[in-house]
Amino acid sequence: MSRAYGWNDKGNATIEDEAPVIRMMATTLLEGGSLRGLVEHLKAEGIATVSGKTWQPVTIKRALTNPRMIGKKKVGDKLVELADVPPILQTRTYNRLCKLLLDPERAKFTGGRTQVALLGGGIARCGGCGRALYSSASTGRAAVYTCSTRSGECPATVSVQAELLDADVTERVLARLSSPKLRAALTKSINELGSRDAAEARIEDLQSRYTALGEDFADGLIERETMRAGTDKVRANIAATELKMKQQEVLAYLPEPDPSAIVEWREQAGLRQYRDVVSILLDHVTVKPTDRRGPGGLDDERIVYVWKK
Ligand SMILES: [Zn+2]
Repeated sequence: MSRAYGWNDKGNATIEDEAPVIRMMATTLLEGGSLRGLVEHLKAEGIATVSGKTWQPVTIKRALTNPRMIGKKKVGDKLVELADVPPILQTRTYNRLCKLLLDPERAKFTGGRTQVALLGGGIARCGGCGRALYSSASTGRAAVYTCSTRSGECPATVSVQAELLDADVTERVLARLSSPKLRAALTKSINELGSRDAAEARIEDLQSRYTALGEDFADGLIERETMRAGTDKVRANIAATELKMKQQEVLAYLPEPDPSAIVEWREQAGLRQYRDVVSILLDHVTVKPTDRRGPGGLDDERIVYVWKK
C-alpha cells in the first residue's frame, strides 16, 4: 500500500514539503474555495499525489479526512490516538473539514432519481448555444439537464446528469456560504442598500426615470441611442437593487458562515428556500459540450461558474 500524502512510509513522521500542502488545501476549502478550484491550483503548481497523479476532488477528500491528519487511526468505529505521531491539522480544523466534505445529506439530496432538479430558470446554460438547460426525467432513467434548443440550431446540444451538476453546485454554494470572508463582503454590499423603505423608494425613483427617458425620446428631446443607453443603465440599477433586497431577505434566515452550521441549515431547509439561496449567489453555470456519448460525466473543464457580484 502506498503511503498517505504528507506522511513517510511508516506513517509516523510528516514530510516537510507535503504537510503545508495539506494545510493549504484545508484552509482553501474552509474559506469557501471549491474542490474543483483546488484541483486546478494544484495542477498549476505542479503538485501531484503520492503516486505522481493529478489530484482529483475525491483524492483530496480522502487525504483531508484521513484521521492520520490529527495523529489518529480508525479502529472499528473509533479513532485511536497514535503514539508519537505529530498532527498536521488541528482537531477543530479536521472536524470542520469532515463535516464539510463528508456530509451524507448532500449525497442524499442529490442522489435520488426522483429528486426535483435544483437548477431552474435558466441558471444552468448550454455551452453550445448559451440558452437554458432544462431538466427532464423519464421512468427508470436518471434525470438529465438538456439543451432546450431544437436540433440543428445548437452546435452541441449539451446534456448532463442532473444529480452530478446539482451535487457540484451544492458543493460550491455551501462552501461559499461557509466562508466568513465572502459573507462579510455580501453583508457590506447589502448594508449599502439601507432600509427596505429606502430601497423601495430607490426603485420607484429609477422606474420614473425609465419612463421619463421614453417620454423624452417621444418628444424628440433625446436620440434613440441616448434613450437606449439610459434605459439599459436604469434597468441594470433596478436589477442590482432588487438583487440586494432579495439577498437581504435570504441572508436573514441563514446561520453564521461556519461549515457545520451551514450544513445543518441545509439539512433542514426546504428545496424552495435552498433554491432562493442558490439564486442570490449564482448568476449562472455553463456546461460545455463533451466528446463522450450520452449525458456524460462532469470533468473539471466542463463547468464554468459565474457568481453574482
Ligand atoms: Zn445548446
